[in-house]
Amino acid sequence: MSRNLYYFRNDFRLNDNSNLARALESSDQILFLCSLPSKSWGKWRMKFYLESISALSTELKERGHHLWALEIEEIPSFIQQLKPDSIFTPYIEAHNEKLECENLNSKTKVEMAYNDRLLMSPPLKIPDVFTQFRKSIEIDYCPAGKTSLPSIWPKAFTTEIPPSLPVSSLELNKKSAFPFKGGEENGLKRLRQYLYESNSIQTYKETRNGLIGIDYSTKFSPYLALGCLSAAAIFREVEFYEKSVLSNESTYWVKFELWWREYFRWVYHKYGKSFFHQRGIKRRIIDSEFNEAIFNDWCQGKTSNPFVDANMIELNETGWMSNRGRQNVASYLVKDLKQPWWLGASYFEQNLIDYDVYSNWGNWQYIAGVGNDPRPNRYFNTDKQARMYDGDGAFRSLWLEKTNPND
Ligand code: FAD
Repeated sequence: MSRNLYYFRNDFRLNDNSNLARALESSDQILFLCSLPSKSWGKWRMKFYLESISALSTELKERGHHLWALEIEEIPSFIQQLKPDSIFTPYIEAHNEKLECENLNSKTKVEMAYNDRLLMSPPLKIPDVFTQFRKSIEIDYCPAGKTSLPSIWPKAFTTEIPPSLPVSSLELNKKSAFPFKGGEENGLKRLRQYLYESNSIQTYKETRNGLIGIDYSTKFSPYLALGCLSAAAIFREVEFYEKSVLSNESTYWVKFELWWREYFRWVYHKYGKSFFHQRGIKRRIIDSEFNEAIFNDWCQGKTSNPFVDANMIELNETGWMSNRGRQNVASYLVKDLKQPWWLGASYFEQNLIDYDVYSNWGNWQYIAGVGNDPRPNRYFNTDKQARMYDGDGAFRSLWLEKTNPND
């Protein structure tokens, strides 16, 4: 009799979850576990996470199971009491995956596998330049096939009922470019909407630098960050769309961007903890001097730069910021305000609803000039950028003008 535990971490989905399929197939009894949001997170990140685990819990209930959501510190002792034969959980390279599973009863086996990327094992070469990486991989790439779950599930490990999940009462900001809720079903809905309902994927390459509205880019990142959607499932669906509806530069470009996401995962694999090092993977010293008032003004959207401020206010009021916005505020913090880049990365980590350890720290290093950018002195002239991408000032007005909160 095999009594196992499945620990959801960055894979809040039932579809396309090969780890979960393996756990279900090898268990006679099973219990499902996840952690509660960290108290250090901003309110929007917390809300999206809670929505995602609540959706997962509903799916599990329909299959006769409960989701135990515990504070991260409570998890080791919970596991020790339970003494499962095996724990199945995704392999999260950057999060010292053993962390929460330490001090286990030595008989418990921990079964882990990558489930957050397109490639299931490390590529032969991990070049320091993205284009070389992409070209070496994409030509022969075929996304993993869909994984189905067994139709009959093992019984629950215990008849005990876990405490109910907390809910966030926070109301979505009506101006948000991301007015969606967390969870697998909502992620799949967004995928269908972006591809088949609005067909926005057909113009992605032209619109992806947008700042206002829901369809200038895919908005898949929050679902990817928590694993409500898998990267392979998106890739497969884009290729299906290309075969059955239309294939053009824009449809290709969504896959191109997914390769960026993939790339930073393997850069971490290559460099390990120097991904978080102040001098970055390049070990390069950059000029910065921390000034609390300057940094706080940047966080609050109170610099003297309206384009930067509008983006930071959007982040604070929604947990979302466009890619164009992120590049500009990051460059401004590091290159104009001369503040340490890792503080900006930490602020994003607290607040972004799509926070992803590899994409966030990899992009920040890139912009700061200590990462994978082959042009380390790249500079975003934020005034010029505002003229190019917000020529009529609509984005700045949207976030800088005071509106009645009830509007
Ligand atoms: P789309 O433009 O529709 O792209 C499709 C998908 O491709 C995205 O969902 C994402 O998974 C991937 N992608 C696109 N651009 C990038 C990129 N530059 N790097 C890695 N993957 C990319 N992305 C995160 O998912 N989480 C983060 O924490 C994060 N932090 C960032 C911090 C900075 C300073 C910068 C400049 C970028 C950061 N990004 C991060 C990358 C990018 O801004 C977001 O992935 C993108 O804006 C999400 O919107 P979307 O899903 O509509 O993307």
